Amino acid sequence: MSLRIVVCVKYVPDATGDRHFAEDLTVDRDDVDGLLSELDEYAVEQALQIADEADDAEITVLTVGPEDAKDALRKALSMGADKAVHVEDDDLHGTDALGTSLVLAKAIEKTGYDLVVCGMASTDGTMGVLPAMLAERLGVPQVSLLSEVSVEDGTVKGRRDGDTATEQLEASLPAVVSVTDQSGEARYPSFKGIMAAKKKPVESWDLEDLEIESDEVGLEGAWTAVDGATERPARTAGTIVKDEGEGGKQLAEFLAGQKFI
Ligand SMILES: Cc1cc2nc3c(=O)[nH]c(=O)nc-3n(C[C@H](O)[C@H](O)[C@H](O)COP(=O)(O)OP(=O)(O)OC[C@H]3O[C@@H](n4cnc5c(N)ncnc54)[C@H](O)[C@@H]3O)c2cc1C
Repeated sequence: MSLRIVVCVKYVPDATGDRHFAEDLTVDRDDVDGLLSELDEYAVEQALQIADEADDAEITVLTVGPEDAKDALRKALSMGADKAVHVEDDDLHGTDALGTSLVLAKAIEKTGYDLVVCGMASTDGTMGVLPAMLAERLGVPQVSLLSEVSVEDGTVKGRRDGDTATEQLEASLPAVVSVTDQSGEARYPSFKGIMAAKKKPVESWDLEDLEIESDEVGLEGAWTAVDGATERPARTAGTIVKDEGEGGKQLAEFLAGQKFI
């Protein structure tokens, strides 16, 4: 039986770019460069390693996002994923985490799956809640924040490194897992991989394909709302201490002044 792996990847604004809020207080994604969320590259990498170990496996990368989100799928396909699904719909604008988890869950069920792999958090919303919401909606176990993961005989196993303890966890498939940025370097797409990705299938679905009403998602269906946003004050240059013999004393006075010591 082929192991069906679905990797959820998010298309996020480039952190080096000028990120700002649009008039409706959603993140302005127009005219802003975007890319595959760096933390989701680890999810793709771990899925590829699990597939390499399996007798027969197929990896589908899935994203919910605007037109340009296809770039995130292309990157994951060029790393080695087999096929992709892009859920795109104008009514998804401003969707919160609950709405995104609904759309992802429906798309994952429609795709068919044994294992869902997520990143530990996105690099823009950074909430880290989607994997748990997905597991709840799909009615399957969740094993989160793994630094090591493997699949054997219908069971997913992994190691979670906490501050005080390291846990060995496992769950029967089907299941949802999330992997951390400590799970191993993500491979760079080879030229061969980039060329092959151009031919790999990308299916496009909208809300109708997933039988989701527009008032369940978007700003209209959101359970949370951004009331206001203020620009963070520009960083000040900070205090520069020129050591002319009293540097240590000045530093100690500064740290004491800040109540650091
Ligand atoms: C600055 C900012 C603040 C926000 N604050 C809130 C808020 O307070 N409450 C709220 O409900 N929503 C909020 N949102 C919206 C929320 O980010 C989106 O709904 C998002 O899709 C899910 O949350 P996240 O990005 O934090 O995902 P996380 O829970 O951090 O994502 C974890 C993993 O889920 C998967 N994933 C996440 N989004 C997608 C996607 N679109 N497609 C495919 N896979 C995905 C990836 O594997 C990712 O690694 C905010 C968005 C931004 C940019």
